[in-house]
Amino acid sequence: MLDRLNFERITPTAAIQRRLHGTRAKCLQRLIRLGMPVPDTVALSIPLVRSIAAGQQPDMKALLEHFGSWPVLSVRASTVEQDWGGPSTVLNIGMNRTNEAFFASRLGADAAKALHLKFIKSYAVDVARLDDEIFDIEDLTVAKALDAYEMETDEAFPEDIEIQLAQVLKSMARAWEGTSARLLRMSKGAPEDAGLGLVVQRMAFGMGKGESGAGVIQFVNSDTGKPQEVGRYKRQSQGRDALSSGEGDALYLTRDKRGPSLQDSQPEVFDALCELGAVARKGLREEMQIEFTVEGGTLHILDAVAAPRSARAEVRIATDLAKDGVISREDAVMRIEPRAIGELLHPQVAGSAKRDVFARGIAASPGAATGKLVFDAMAAQTSASQGEACILVRRETSPEDVRGMHAAKAILTERGGANGHAAVIARGLGLPCVTGATSIDVDTKKRTVTSEDGRVLSEGDVVTLDGSSGQVLAGSVPLVEAGIGGAFRELLGWADAVRDIGVRANADTPEDANVAEMFNAEGIGLCRTEHMFFGEDRLTVLREAVFAEDDTDRAAALSRLLPMQRADFLAMFLIMAPRPVCLRLFDPPLHEFLPSTREGILQLADALDMSAREVQARIEDLSEQNPMLGLRGVRLGITMPEIYEMQARAIFEAAIEASVGGVAVVPEIMIPLVSAKREVELVKSRIDAVAADVMSETGKTVEFRLGVMVETPRAALRAGDIATHASFLSFGTNDMTQMTYGLSRDDAGRFMSDYVNQGVFPEDPFLALDQDGVGELLALASERGRIVREKLTLSVCGEHGGDPESIAFCRSLGMDYVSCSPYRVPIARLAAAQLAI
Ligand code: PEP
Ligand code: MG
Repeated sequence: MLDRLNFERITPTAAIQRRLHGTRAKCLQRLIRLGMPVPDTVALSIPLVRSIAAGQQPDMKALLEHFGSWPVLSVRASTVEQDWGGPSTVLNIGMNRTNEAFFASRLGADAAKALHLKFIKSYAVDVARLDDEIFDIEDLTVAKALDAYEMETDEAFPEDIEIQLAQVLKSMARAWEGTSARLLRMSKGAPEDAGLGLVVQRMAFGMGKGESGAGVIQFVNSDTGKPQEVGRYKRQSQGRDALSSGEGDALYLTRDKRGPSLQDSQPEVFDALCELGAVARKGLREEMQIEFTVEGGTLHILDAVAAPRSARAEVRIATDLAKDGVISREDAVMRIEPRAIGELLHPQVAGSAKRDVFARGIAASPGAATGKLVFDAMAAQTSASQGEACILVRRETSPEDVRGMHAAKAILTERGGANGHAAVIARGLGLPCVTGATSIDVDTKKRTVTSEDGRVLSEGDVVTLDGSSGQVLAGSVPLVEAGIGGAFRELLGWADAVRDIGVRANADTPEDANVAEMFNAEGIGLCRTEHMFFGEDRLTVLREAVFAEDDTDRAAALSRLLPMQRADFLAMFLIMAPRPVCLRLFDPPLHEFLPSTREGILQLADALDMSAREVQARIEDLSEQNPMLGLRGVRLGITMPEIYEMQARAIFEAAIEASVGGVAVVPEIMIPLVSAKREVELVKSRIDAVAADVMSETGKTVEFRLGVMVETPRAALRAGDIATHASFLSFGTNDMTQMTYGLSRDDAGRFMSDYVNQGVFPEDPFLALDQDGVGELLALASERGRIVREKLTLSVCGEHGGDPESIAFCRSLGMDYVSCSPYRVPIARLAAAQLAI
């Protein structure tokens, strides 16, 4: 026999604890403390329920003592976190032939019979695990139901409440231990050994004489979070019956043109509910959904849970609670899961949508879009010009696809990883993207995509791409629109007030800079200037510069690029002023910029006045076995210095122009893919020379900050040396992860899921910073850099800059800011604030 202290009557002063008795028990105690009319309730602790599952029986007499004579009870699950689930509630325990007669006099014969019958059925299904079809009997009565039970089990239905309750407790405790229940709760984040508490409560009957019924009410709209009384109520019903009943038998809760409502027919009950709702909101510091019963016109509050809500509603609810002084602004900021607000920034697949999954890949950029399949950039542009939404499918993407990516609503690639070309561009554009969908087969000639199970979709077929889950769904499914409203902005404003690490945006074009500005980025931490060359006209000129065989030809091509670059930089400075803009000098993995199609080759041949064969030969000359480790970044700056000189000139001239009449614009110039101090020295001396030229030509002072991207392990190790020439270091953790692991950021998607599933990597290191390895290099470089230069500005500008855990790590190293795709800026602002609270 278990010690009676393992169950505890819930009173205002009882020692009820959430970790020991579960959230429901704790919540009921709070309702009781607030003076709510809650029927007598006893909480069974988690250890007690565990021992019941193991076969022990609590002292039933002692337990029942709490409920006086003629008790009829309910038992509900009480888990530590509300959303961990748990066995379903059992009502009306204690009903038998004897008390049916007793309740007949109190509630009426029909109600008493109905209650008894309901209990027999639910006991048979939930406890004896019988099929409810055994009760498909014409004119079912209590006697027929008892016979059916006995026929099925060879045992008489238990009449004794002690036995009934003991069996209910045992079956609920054991259900919790079952494999499927365990897997289900683990999928919701519960630990494997999570326990179950139970609450036993005296029934308030929603059946009987006078106004009787049951329902639920909440005071906010679950989709928007706006104040609104919503819920259902059903006469002559119990528990959550009202929620599952059809329209017809539910009495409307609030005033409704379609039929009678509780608000109209029982205004005093409705008003009391609203008052109690307000008390619960204040007392529990949360918007609650309240389960209530009306018995003969008297209101009882049985239970309350946090009102269900969408991510959008969550933000509105938290801000409203703070504005009403119920919680602090910091509490409101802490309540929002940073990743969940990603949902607000992009349309999402509706929770209720049916998913016919055609393919799966890496969830590379969040949001969802529906459109017709197209297989190249041209088709995407045509489709967009006809006003038709399209989804661009490629084996992998290259700069030639970027115009098509702009025109598409979403991107799907067979290859590529979480930080490969398609992923980075899509995130920058705020487009949903699934990469590394290795199970599909894309045939760009036939314009088909074949799934693992052999299903074939052709150009024009409609799919929905869900970049948040990495799924491609056949056909069109309902989407929920993005919703950045006033509450969202307000909450982020509160977050900014407490945040102690900066958040900038990675923005490559004036359009991106506008998005960065809209999301209140504190500057641009990375402008990948080579991305400014994606436009058709520029790509060809850039290729001419790269292809030029002598200095004169190269100079001619660069002089055409100079005004284009200057105009871009000027636009970005003007959009962001007075905030800093950090321009990363050209870092093209060359293969991304060489034409790969016959059409591209012909176009270049025309522009260069070369034959297609000559162009082809030059491409072969320039092509590398391992382009990501080839002639890119500063290596290009060293071997073709004129390109960086042109960029430096464009930056300085734009900065002078942007400074006219206002505060001086001080551009930040960043050198990519450095591995040796000498690289920095060489580039720095050339940039200094350009600055001197521009100053003497214009008579204006040019101020700038020169920094280095730490992307190679060697640069991290030699950060002390490098920092002598750099006023800031920005960690390019995409390349750093690639090089530290020796893992291709463009190809790792092919096997990443095997690695993660087998626990080789806890997570994809391109998404969540590898704190042990890559992180150690960051720590070491930060320390070595700051020894040499105390005020050295440190930041991360790889994709990890938008990941909450990675931000925590950067902050712990004392970094000044993180920089991430514009659409991740709000997530980073919130995550960073939560670290400071
Ligand atoms: C990086 O390598 O982390 C980085 C920001 O540069 P990119 O992604 O352009 O290589
Ligand atoms: Mg890089």
